[in-house]
Amino acid sequence: MPQANIDPAIKSVHVFSTGAGEQHKEHRYGSPLPRLLWALTSQSWIKIPVNAFVIEHRDGLVLFDTGLDPAIKSDPNYINSAIGRFLLRRIFRLHIGPDERLHKKLEAMGFAAADIRKAVISHLHFDHVGGIADIPQADLLVSKDEWAQLSAPHPEREWILREHIEIPGAKWRPVEFAPTDDPLFAPFGGSYDVMGDASMILLPTPGHTPGSMSMLVRTGDTPPLLLVGDLTYQADLLMKDQVPGTGDAKLLRSSFAKVRTLKKQFPDLVILASHDPETADILAASHSSRP
Ligand SMILES: [Zn+2]
Repeated sequence: MPQANIDPAIKSVHVFSTGAGEQHKEHRYGSPLPRLLWALTSQSWIKIPVNAFVIEHRDGLVLFDTGLDPAIKSDPNYINSAIGRFLLRRIFRLHIGPDERLHKKLEAMGFAAADIRKAVISHLHFDHVGGIADIPQADLLVSKDEWAQLSAPHPEREWILREHIEIPGAKWRPVEFAPTDDPLFAPFGGSYDVMGDASMILLPTPGHTPGSMSMLVRTGDTPPLLLVGDLTYQADLLMKDQVPGTGDAKLLRSSFAKVRTLKKQFPDLVILASHDPETADILAASHSSRP
């Protein structure tokens, strides 16, 4: 098995949610209607978490995403544009208390925000970058393609809020995927080794946004994990090839197919989505599923 060669450098993987939210059924499961139409007319709301992950590596703590900033509730002008504020209310209901900052969430799990060495940002949407101000010392890894979205016209129309990303002191590190001849990763066209020991591998999985990426985590003694961010809102939808109501459907299907190919190589691969209410249970079950 490929994972037999992996040194168990990872001590633990935890998931936590900063606040919570609700999204429309059409958003999660897809819709034949154009995005703007379902956003303006849908009456159905589904409860979702806003998950982030902390990985205890022997060389330090690594985050995968940083969740929401409570200021999105307390500051009426958190989103600069009026149309953005209007659309946000149509697309998401957000529930987050003033104390639900990233550093408090980490503290509650026994970790210190100051000990985070690196944070992998799956993509630049506001609900994944909201905690970066709490970890100024950490390298923030984002794909080069996602970083390029900041220079595209009107990134705020795609929920990429420059004023909350380009903050003073933030150590953004756009990463380039290296060509790989590892047959496991070849379908993705490249990979990036986060700690240099193959325990955490970044893979491009565009579709939700042009530069979205996923992270494969191999611990050595429990099943491999694939943290997919918002590539899918729940793993079974990816396995069924059911695309959500946002993003680029063609790119999403192409990334879904690559993940399913990876799962053929790792039949016990556990796919963990950022907005799946079952993610915490799936992760807990994976800890005890390999003898
Ligand atoms: Zn999200």
